[in-house]
Amino acid sequence: MALIVQKYGGTSVGSIERIRNVAERVAKFKALGHQVVVVVSAMAGETNRLIELAKQIQKEPDPRELDVLLSTGEQVTIALLAMALKDLGLKAKSYTGGQVRILTDDAHTKARILSIDEDNIRRDLASGHVVVVAGFQGVDAAGNITTLGRGGSDTTGVALAAALKADECQIYTDVDGVYTTDPRIVPEARRLKTITFEEMLEMASLGSKVLQIRSVEFAGKYKVRLRVLSSFEDEGEGTLITFEEDTMERPLISGIAFNREEAKLTVLGVPDRPGIAAHILGPIAEANIDVDMIVQNVGHDGTTDFSFTVHRNEFKKAMAVLEKVKDEIGARAVIGDDKIAKVSLVGVGMRTHAGIASKMFKALSDENINIQMISTSEIKISVVVDDKYMELAVRALHQAFELDKEGVAA
Ligand code: ADP
Ligand code: ASP
Ligand code: MG
Repeated sequence: MALIVQKYGGTSVGSIERIRNVAERVAKFKALGHQVVVVVSAMAGETNRLIELAKQIQKEPDPRELDVLLSTGEQVTIALLAMALKDLGLKAKSYTGGQVRILTDDAHTKARILSIDEDNIRRDLASGHVVVVAGFQGVDAAGNITTLGRGGSDTTGVALAAALKADECQIYTDVDGVYTTDPRIVPEARRLKTITFEEMLEMASLGSKVLQIRSVEFAGKYKVRLRVLSSFEDEGEGTLITFEEDTMERPLISGIAFNREEAKLTVLGVPDRPGIAAHILGPIAEANIDVDMIVQNVGHDGTTDFSFTVHRNEFKKAMAVLEKVKDEIGARAVIGDDKIAKVSLVGVGMRTHAGIASKMFKALSDENINIQMISTSEIKISVVVDDKYMELAVRALHQAFELDKEGVAA
């Protein structure tokens, strides 16, 4: 007998029929003698619909009230799933995040889980219930409803699995595992049987939305056995996230991630002297804007150009900050571009291999794609390219590194 946490995403609970389907899958696990905790998202499209409603009233909806609104999406699903389970003759009980007491900080719309009170859940499991928990939501110390950021139900699932010391956390979604890249962009993308935790963390942070990054962080911190599977298929082992350090057997590149959510800002004609980078980025940090990639060109004529990227939502705010900075430091101009995309190669195999970057750059140049920025770490190389070439870049790289073929090992 095992304790399993299963998380079902929006499409997987997108209709009454799909919810019944989930109930049947849960029933199968119960019939095998397992204890099951189910975490569900809002029905497909519901969170977006609620955000739209809010925006019709306030352009920038009040964060506390937005959380009250968004949390209703998941509350609908837990009740419906609990009913469907009861309809199959199982004992089931639904819980909102607050009812479990998933305690978070008070950062509305992007709260972090601080602790989980698992007593109620354990008691219900012991008495044979399937416990159904609303994903994506919690409650702060003052009792306010909070949400965990888009895709946050993954994090609820993994955090619950950690708190309950579950044998496995299964993330059921509309693809049958983690692929070499988003199969919607590259049909030849291949499912990975395993991916290392580090690679998954990079993939998630570089834009693959198959798992929310915080869920991967939780899995790493508490060593949760985490698997991504399809809710649309009965068979299949999905993708297991592994913690092995042995990278000998790992492929050179595991996957390609991409992200259209950034914008680039450039300060032109910056005086080339010590302290300038701090002078530009200090006010950006003070405005609470996170910076991702940074490039400073080699100086000539005593000046240089300084570029960095921020989230697209903060583009306008960052431009306004820079306009002020520009005059203070005597820079020539500030320009911005929010039509960029970041494309990243990820693989622990590249740690022990040279030549990956040049192969990447050649593949992009063969397609006439200009690279605007580059950043690297031990297990990833990211480039910024023009938004309109993003899909082409992803396909070209997938082909150049033969990711459609199994086992191109390091
Ligand atoms: P859910 O609603 O179940 O949480 P999401 O839409 O959040 O589902 O995540 C699943 C989607 O992630 C897939 O439909 C796929 O388009 C996308 N995706 C992006 N990158 C990858 C990848 N490397 N492997 C698999 N799916 C990916
Ligand atoms: N319903 C939330 C969202 O759409 C949380 C989730 O699905 O994980 O982002
Ligand atoms: Mg998701």
